[in-house]
Amino acid sequence: MNGTELRNISFHGIGTPNGPEREPDEHRYWVTESAFLHVLDLCADHRDTIRLSFDDGNASDAATALPALQERGLTADFFPIADRLGTPGNLDEDALRALAAAGMGIGTHGAAHRPWTHVNPADQHIELQDARTRIATAIGAPVTTAACPFGAYNRKVLRALRTAGYRTVFTSDARPAHSGRWLQPRYSVEATDTPESVRTRMLAPRTTSGRVLDRAVLMVKAWR
Ligand SMILES: [Zn+2]
Repeated sequence: MNGTELRNISFHGIGTPNGPEREPDEHRYWVTESAFLHVLDLCADHRDTIRLSFDDGNASDAATALPALQERGLTADFFPIADRLGTPGNLDEDALRALAAAGMGIGTHGAAHRPWTHVNPADQHIELQDARTRIATAIGAPVTTAACPFGAYNRKVLRALRTAGYRTVFTSDARPAHSGRWLQPRYSVEATDTPESVRTRMLAPRTTSGRVLDRAVLMVKAWR
């Protein structure tokens, strides 16, 4: 099944991170509000071929991203971390419900923000099933999409996600995606990005050889 080519663009925190890094390199993925708004304007210009998402459930999802999306008539998918809901600097259940009520997609980014490639079977259940149930209970609707923490996946993780019934799974492979496909690669916006770098790095048309490379890389990653 070959859907329309599109580009998935993901954000993390907007503004200044709260306190020390929660994991190495976290600050690399925080963008200033001004950079965020400029990149979002660019995304609005390409709304038919771009799909937006926000990982980690930072409080800025509701405080900054939601009004900016609404002003531009855009929607996005949000992937909160179940263990962080209601903790300082993060979305609480009310904020999650507000995002859902505004027509945003709510998925899961797992329980404790650890790579799903490195969890034992009991923790895998906590990450893929329990976390989803907690988020679904909070919004009062089923959760059918997941974003892999740190973009980490392998064949085993994908099989577990399929078994758990997820309809769409988002990764961070920095390659174009196709609508309707189960696995959706995304580009992550980083602290140093500008509308120009996003345009060059994420929106440029792929050459024929680039497309062949994309397919090969994604196939290898899914079968490791
Ligand atoms: Zn994350």
